[in-house]
Amino acid sequence: MTTPLLDRLADEAPVFPLVAALLARVSRKGRAADRDRERSPEQQLDAAREVTEVDGRPVLLTDDAVYEERQSASRFGTKPRKRFDALLDDLRAGRYGLVIVWEVDRAARELEAWSRFLNVCRDRGVLIHVITHRRTYDVRVGRDWRSLADDGIDAAYFSEKLSVNIRRGHADSAAQGRPGGRAPFGYARVYDGRGKLAQVDGVWQQIPNDDAPVVKEIIERVAASVPLNEVQRDLAARGVILPRSTIHAIVTCPAYANLRPAPGGGHTQGRWVPIVDETTWRQAVAVLDGNRGSKPGHTVWLLSQVGDCVCGASGSWKGQHGKGNTAATYFCRECGTKVNAAQADQYVLALALGRLARPDAAAVFARDTSADATAARAEADDLRRKASRFRDRLETAAAEEEEEILEQLRRLKPRIKKATERAAQLSTPPALAGFADALGNEELLVRRWADASLPARKALLKVVFERLELQRAAYRGQPAGERITHRWADEA
Ligand SMILES: [Zn+2]
Repeated sequence: MTTPLLDRLADEAPVFPLVAALLARVSRKGRAADRDRERSPEQQLDAAREVTEVDGRPVLLTDDAVYEERQSASRFGTKPRKRFDALLDDLRAGRYGLVIVWEVDRAARELEAWSRFLNVCRDRGVLIHVITHRRTYDVRVGRDWRSLADDGIDAAYFSEKLSVNIRRGHADSAAQGRPGGRAPFGYARVYDGRGKLAQVDGVWQQIPNDDAPVVKEIIERVAASVPLNEVQRDLAARGVILPRSTIHAIVTCPAYANLRPAPGGGHTQGRWVPIVDETTWRQAVAVLDGNRGSKPGHTVWLLSQVGDCVCGASGSWKGQHGKGNTAATYFCRECGTKVNAAQADQYVLALALGRLARPDAAAVFARDTSADATAARAEADDLRRKASRFRDRLETAAAEEEEEILEQLRRLKPRIKKATERAAQLSTPPALAGFADALGNEELLVRRWADASLPARKALLKVVFERLELQRAAYRGQPAGERITHRWADEA
């Protein structure tokens, strides 16, 4: 029943403000690319204050609701992330209805923490406003949850941060003992006012950061002949998830021993702070070489015949060893487009495991095909019965009939074979067999991955991706992560 009075009351119904929190981030100093995009917490707060209304409700953001994360948000950070945890607690306590963040990749460096954050927001019905997206997300809605979770995977972060660049530098840099390429994982660089690498008392300012203890531990344990699997598992148990290829790349990177590759092979002395001593490093490399035969480096082609190409070719990637100091590559057999193999492996692996670690992975990728399998089995049985009827007839058939029956039997044979194979295929999706129990569980996934054979790994990637397309480089040395586009299998 509607009356003018009720209408008026509805119009005047009080609108409760959305109490908001700001998760402000300050990333590590030193990287030019970061500094360009960097916003101070004050700038982030100013921008957050411009969010005055969400869903028609006024937003209330007070100074004590600013959660400033000064520590590195990297999973390797060893210091407690107090403010982030405090925010999670306050969210659980129902203190806020809205969290404002500057951008997702700044907030989401650690996949596990990011999913925890998303889950708390979903459980508590907390909205998330991303300033750079100019958008508010409601993670109770599947689409919104997914789009923020996707951003959180941020595979580019893995490939950028973990990329260990040992390419040859200029001869004059070598003479000065200057570090080449980008800072390896475990190091941060300090730049002077003009954006050049700083030098203090003759020491280049490439300095071990919070991730350095992980590097030290890996190299020292490998040097002590601890199997790679064990090193990887122990790290994973503490939340440090590294693909095997990355651990390998870390061990073989000479920069950690204050060495730089020399143009004619061998190494020259660098002038920055080592993370391990040279003897330990050489020992670790020797152990790895021993494990793999005499050929160090990248020898396993994870993506050959898996990757597709912008030229239209499918499964056209082929691996190729580097010559001298050049890196191993994948190239397209059709058009010859190339990409750095280690970078491509790392990027695709991070994407795939990130996707499979999400809570919906089992529902999406381990589809129940038992009904189809039953149908295929029934079809095979039908065809077999038909064949057996033909064989019965053959015994009593007249000579002129015989040829016709034999022809029917010949035609049935491949159809029976096909239906039988299809039934077998459908009843066990072979690619998922070793991973089925690990879907949605990042730590278990990494373990299963480490244990899986190369064919099993490739098969898994084919289940996850509908297409992994290599684009031509926009410039020399463009990172693989920027050149590989993907379509998930469930988007097909
Ligand atoms: Zn091609």
